[in-house]
Amino acid sequence: MRILVVEDEPGVAGFVRQGLTEAGYAVDVAADGEEGLAYALAAEYDLMVVDIMLPRRDGLSLLQEIRREGVQTPVLLLTARDAIDDRVKGLDAGADDYLVKPFAFQELLARIRALLRRPPLQTGSILRAGDLEMDLTTRQVWRAGKEIFLTPREFSLLEMLLRHPNQVLTRTQIMEHVWNFNFYGSSNVVDVYIGYLRRKIDRGFAFPLIHTVRGVGYVLKAE
Ligand code: CA
Repeated sequence: MRILVVEDEPGVAGFVRQGLTEAGYAVDVAADGEEGLAYALAAEYDLMVVDIMLPRRDGLSLLQEIRREGVQTPVLLLTARDAIDDRVKGLDAGADDYLVKPFAFQELLARIRALLRRPPLQTGSILRAGDLEMDLTTRQVWRAGKEIFLTPREFSLLEMLLRHPNQVLTRTQIMEHVWNFNFYGSSNVVDVYIGYLRRKIDRGFAFPLIHTVRGVGYVLKAE
């Protein structure tokens, strides 16, 4: 899952970037509203965290502009304490949730997980395919009842595949959602990580879940 953070305070931006990266998300940070708008229109993010008070273009204007451009990505706004007016305006402008600064990182993480759960009609925090299960809250994975230990990046890649079962995903689509801009250019990184994942979730089990579609990409077959 790939997240855009638009925040001009370096301390907050750095702490959010580090925390989200450690939690396995691919993160890009933009330092003002114009840069944030450019990023939001240039890549397909799964979620955006946007501060309201930003230089060059404020968070509400950024939000209105991306909604006008048809970007449906969930947006979590960061607002100043007691700025109730901002929260109402933000929700009216198409925000999905908001968080009051200063906030505990665990709360940000919980809100993000809740927002990412909404669209694919998944109930609770468990994703399933065949005999494979992923718990998004505890970040545990099992296949045929056996727990499998994944690195944060492997987890993120498997989550992307599980959210699109039986759908062929191109390397570019996978790249866009699992890695941030810093990794662009090393195009075989997707193949390398699919290799790691196969060794852990497919090798030694009754049937493979991950299939290569030659010349296109990969598909996770649930049956
Ligand atoms: Ca700010």
